[in-house]
Amino acid sequence: MTIGASASATTGAVTRVGIGYDSHRFTPGGPLVLGGVRIPADVSLLGHSDADAIAHAVTDAVLGAAAAGDIGSLFPDSDDANKGRDSIEMLRGAVASVRALGFAVNNVDVTVIAEFPRIGPHAPAIRARLGDSLGITASAVSVKGKSNEGMGWIGRGEGIACIAVATLTSER
Ligand SMILES: [Zn+2]
Repeated sequence: MTIGASASATTGAVTRVGIGYDSHRFTPGGPLVLGGVRIPADVSLLGHSDADAIAHAVTDAVLGAAAAGDIGSLFPDSDDANKGRDSIEMLRGAVASVRALGFAVNNVDVTVIAEFPRIGPHAPAIRARLGDSLGITASAVSVKGKSNEGMGWIGRGEGIACIAVATLTSER
């Protein structure tokens, strides 16, 4: 797959940007699943699916860039089929749906805001897993962690927030 500006320059393709946000509350009992990677921990994230905040934010960024709705419209939490669902599978579904609209994913940039876990040590594995799911190389996937400096619900360690940006190129 061609990545970046060269595709736009040679084909006149249009680049689109999307943003995604997600948050989940911690609940006792690990492991923690973030970006499709199981991180050893004594807490996990609470949600209808596996509550993978990174995968959900990236899914919404990809769908947003294509103006193709959001994760809730593709995989409603009223549908029992989505209970405990693997969020990487949902991300792959979102990528397939934007491809069907004529878009290819260029790159993704993710910021996780959390006091725990430290993202840095897990970033290489998360980048590889997301890249595989998005059909791009890990070098086109950025994953960064930030603490919230002890402020608010994130600072109290109640949960995790995640912001993701994706760019897509139209192939038409
Ligand atoms: Zn979520």
